[in-house]
Amino acid sequence: KRLEELNVADTTCGYCAVGCRFDLYSDGEEILAARPTDEEDAPVNGISTCVKGKFGYDFVNSDDRLTTPLVRDENGEFREASWDEALSRVVDGLGSITENHGGEALSVIASSKATNEENYLIGKFARQVLGTNSVDNCNRLCHSSTVAGLAQTYGYGAASISTDDLGIADCILLTGSNTTEAHPVLATRIKQNVREGADLLVFDPREVQIAEYATQYSRVKPGYDAVWINGIIRHIINNDLYDEEFVRERVTGYEPEGAVDHDSADDREQRVDERETGFEAVRAAVQEFTPEVVEEVTGIPHEEIVSAAETIAEADACVFGWTLGLTEHSHGTENVIAMANLAAITGNLGKPGAGVSPFRGQNNVQGGGGDMGPLPDNFSGYQDIADDDVRAKFEDAWDCDISEEYGYYTTQMFLAADNDDIRGMYIIGENAALSEPGVNHAEGVLEDLEFLVVQDLFVNETAQYADVVLPACSFVEKTGTFTNTDRTVQMVKEVMEPKGDSRPDWEILQDLANRMGRAWDYDSTAEIMEEVNSLTPLYGGVTHDRVEAEGGLQWPCWDEDHPGTERLYEEQFNTDNGKANLLGIGYSEPAETPDEEYPFTLTTGRVLYQYHTGTMTHREEGIMQYTPSDFIEIHPNTARNHGIESGDMVEVESRRGEIVVPAQVTDRVGAENVFVPIHFAESAVNRLTDEEHLDPEAATPEFKVSAVRIGPY
Ligand code: SF4
Repeated sequence: KRLEELNVADTTCGYCAVGCRFDLYSDGEEILAARPTDEEDAPVNGISTCVKGKFGYDFVNSDDRLTTPLVRDENGEFREASWDEALSRVVDGLGSITENHGGEALSVIASSKATNEENYLIGKFARQVLGTNSVDNCNRLCHSSTVAGLAQTYGYGAASISTDDLGIADCILLTGSNTTEAHPVLATRIKQNVREGADLLVFDPREVQIAEYATQYSRVKPGYDAVWINGIIRHIINNDLYDEEFVRERVTGYEPEGAVDHDSADDREQRVDERETGFEAVRAAVQEFTPEVVEEVTGIPHEEIVSAAETIAEADACVFGWTLGLTEHSHGTENVIAMANLAAITGNLGKPGAGVSPFRGQNNVQGGGGDMGPLPDNFSGYQDIADDDVRAKFEDAWDCDISEEYGYYTTQMFLAADNDDIRGMYIIGENAALSEPGVNHAEGVLEDLEFLVVQDLFVNETAQYADVVLPACSFVEKTGTFTNTDRTVQMVKEVMEPKGDSRPDWEILQDLANRMGRAWDYDSTAEIMEEVNSLTPLYGGVTHDRVEAEGGLQWPCWDEDHPGTERLYEEQFNTDNGKANLLGIGYSEPAETPDEEYPFTLTTGRVLYQYHTGTMTHREEGIMQYTPSDFIEIHPNTARNHGIESGDMVEVESRRGEIVVPAQVTDRVGAENVFVPIHFAESAVNRLTDEEHLDPEAATPEFKVSAVRIGPY
């Protein structure tokens, strides 16, 4: 068919959080084409999209797409059911746990693939209908340490920049980010800027593709990021290379005459409690990171620390970008605070081409995963549930009592289930059976729950443990908004009818809420957004009409007249005194370090042609040809010592489990490290990772450091 004869919707990509916009074409049955929106209507990506945004739509019509609810029969097998029967089972299953153990025995995992409006309702459903604050999302597994670190220092736990800043920065420091594969369109922007003369500094355990463009690539030892960052800060401060004017005017605790006393504590938890605030606390805390210490701990030569420090200090505007290599640690928040300290002392905030940019992962993890408040400690807009006035506002609007006690974070829910503190879960669009750390443990928890509801597009690995599976819609079958990695809220539009009897998440939640004694009456997601506007100052002016008319709006957007915020902190920080609250930090060892028994450090990550646990991309025939399985990257010396060649099957074992994957022998990884992607159930790398050692502030697991041993299979 000709394009003019097809349905078309200008919409936002449902894969990663770059937030590319394009026109999707459908004949009502399937997606037939994706064509970049006109450049001026696509502020983030212009005319670029990556392979997933262009071709990744076979999953919508996949033969195994869920089109009707499923319930367990008397033999424990799934059988198809009507919506009425399935929802009655959910009401009975969740209701029985509430009756016997209280609503706090239930938890909800929200979906960063769902729209903002749906995620707002998930938080409301948990608190108002189920009576639990244990509602969380995949943000816990990735950037919650970013949120904790940036919120403490600057006030907002989000990127300060607009995507355009990546194209005009004089210097970009990337760490823990395989940008080319995980955020392809951002990588294109960065590479273009480098071609035009910008400096690019890449600090990463793997020599990732974008390092080919770098002015400097430094191989870091996984788990020790605060050490090299503090080493750079020390060189900048001790050589008076910091931005004195910015520090004097916009940073707390600056004493022009020099350092204050600082007793560095060895114990991490003690240090969290005793963290000292202000520039002088940072000056004092970094003194232990001498060239000798940094080189000994991280292996990074002193000259590389000096050259990076001087490149950053000389740049007029520098962006500090990172992803999960910095955050997925038992001390990820400390790493982020160190990065926040570095950006602030060099005056790289609140001006064009400068700022901090945590590249978010899933399409709507910024909005759905955080802004909309499916969180155990915050309502929408990061409003603290422990604040009496805030809680009263939501209790009044939602006509319910809400406990001031924080609920469990996702990672804690799985540990709490061991003690029967959590007995039932409602998991929406999250394949926890593969994505949680310590999959062997997570599987046991899911198996033992008294009641599990899964709402998804497929009977994925998590749904296989469910009592009831509810068929949801994909982003091409519904309308709402997503918020991308630079805080831009953009429209998502329905281009085809929901498949079979599947329904948008918000409609399912509304039906359930009403069956459980509430009177929800939303006719559209625009109406839900109006409720968000009224309760959420950050999103006060973000209406569907405006987002549609303006092509996107960046928060904070306080009211209908506010233009949105291109760049945070131009005038002041979002702190009590308007200044950046820098924090003096040392560093903490990873929870598990390699030893004789398990001599290699395993890191995990993504590849371009796959997406997360593969529920969408495994159903794309073309995409599967490029990366049909996970693999293990092994350094040539290691491979030689173990008699392994590329293509050989390798057994990888940690203290928590083992997997078998084909080898890729490459010097992209260091001799002490190995790397495995996260995309396939048959080689689920999270069987090797650790569910117990979590960041003390953000509860993020340590996906990026696991001690393993390897051998031919
Ligand atoms: Fe979609 Fe991300 Fe690719 Fe853009 S870069 S098309 S948002 S997956």
